[in-house]
Amino acid sequence: MQKNQIVELEITDLSYEAMGVAHYEGLTIFVNNALPGEIVKAKVLKVKKKFAFAKIEEIIKESPDRVKVKLNQWVQTGLASLAHIKYDKQLEFKRNQVVNLLHKADLDQIKVDQTLPSPEETGYRNKAQVPVRMVNDQLEIGFFRRHSHDLVPLTNFFTTDPEIDRVLIAVRDILRKYKVPAYDEIHNKGEVRYLDVRRSKASGEIMVILVCLHRDFPQLPKVAAEISQIPDVTSIILNHNPKKTNVILGKNDYVVFGEDHITDKIGDVKFRISPQSFFQINSLQTPRLYNLAIEKADLKPEDVVIDAYSGIGTIGLSVAKHVKAVRGMEVIKPAVDDANANAKLNGITNAEYVVGKAEEVMPRWANEGLKTDVIFVDPPRKGLTPEFIDAAVKTNPKKIVYISCNPATQVRDLQLFREQGYDFNEIDPVDMFPQTPHVESVAVLEKAEK
Ligand code: SAH
Repeated sequence: MQKNQIVELEITDLSYEAMGVAHYEGLTIFVNNALPGEIVKAKVLKVKKKFAFAKIEEIIKESPDRVKVKLNQWVQTGLASLAHIKYDKQLEFKRNQVVNLLHKADLDQIKVDQTLPSPEETGYRNKAQVPVRMVNDQLEIGFFRRHSHDLVPLTNFFTTDPEIDRVLIAVRDILRKYKVPAYDEIHNKGEVRYLDVRRSKASGEIMVILVCLHRDFPQLPKVAAEISQIPDVTSIILNHNPKKTNVILGKNDYVVFGEDHITDKIGDVKFRISPQSFFQINSLQTPRLYNLAIEKADLKPEDVVIDAYSGIGTIGLSVAKHVKAVRGMEVIKPAVDDANANAKLNGITNAEYVVGKAEEVMPRWANEGLKTDVIFVDPPRKGLTPEFIDAAVKTNPKKIVYISCNPATQVRDLQLFREQGYDFNEIDPVDMFPQTPHVESVAVLEKAEK
């Protein structure tokens, strides 16, 4: 097989990144956007020893699961790489990810529920972080083409709250009007790197973060004054990111208009959210995810509860009024400040959050002799560490509720807990990110009967 060759392929599977999978002359071929059951004419893009990449030239037999995507760019950029698949099949795809991982781990007996659908299939994101670049001498917002840093200009971000798209476009036009340069990443020059816009569905408040190369720029006062006129904008922040890096946000935030946070609500608990704090992005699905996790925790009024990887305390503060005490930890200091402020804001006096790495704080607490009843963990994609798991077990909880955004590390960690006398019999996938391959899942470990 050679680059640029045209081959006819039968697609038999979907990879975990949602690429169509075919086999040809002993090679595994990944075909962008192709679906199982389809026969396609494809052009070979890249050939490696055991696998190759190809793109569709023509669909000879189309899958009944295919839907027409309004804008090719959504799939091209990876912004919505499942957008060409019917929603119920997306849900099935996500459930299959978990089933396959369990199968590989010899855990076929574990039950996997149907994926809980998101109430909104599009426009569900309460936050957008979009790159800003010059394209043909004009400042554009958009998204990077998959596996590249070529900006594809966009004004409809599809998975984002349309109110946020409206603000993104308005800010783009203001930046153009005052001739503010976009960031040039090759020379680490220019000014605006990203726009980060967050909107609270509960209060309607909107925060605009201008991620900039410099702490200040000549047009800033005028630009800020105009952005502040956009309806519902209650906070404008300049995030200073001077480095040549792919990391989106810099360390320091400066308020240029209004508040240093916005306020949102999950259930009947209010949350203030600072620029650097993590907040679940699917506003309508989050309470359903938490309710599922909390129901499974079967909390009692005398319980001591840990909220690990707490962000701004959303899980712990949602249960604090029903238990004896909540303790949590989180590595981002502003998020911890938010968590403690959020306890106060809601009249909660039995919850306390500290700054630190979960894998360091948990062993410290265990060594101090802390005993727990229920531990909630909600780590980033890389999952937990063995140090955390050992320490968690040492505090002798009845249950550990594991919320994960990466079932691969979740299954790995669940097995480590199993080796230490905890067992689980179910994983429930929840769709927090429709149109994308991301899978969220919940599992509950219980102390095995001796
Ligand atoms: N439970 C929260 C946040 C989940 S996201 C919610 O549902 O909103 C995961 C959080 O873990 C992020 O806030 C991230 O900053 C934090 N984090 C990442 N690595 C960490 C570590 N090693 N120790 C503690 N917190 C960490």
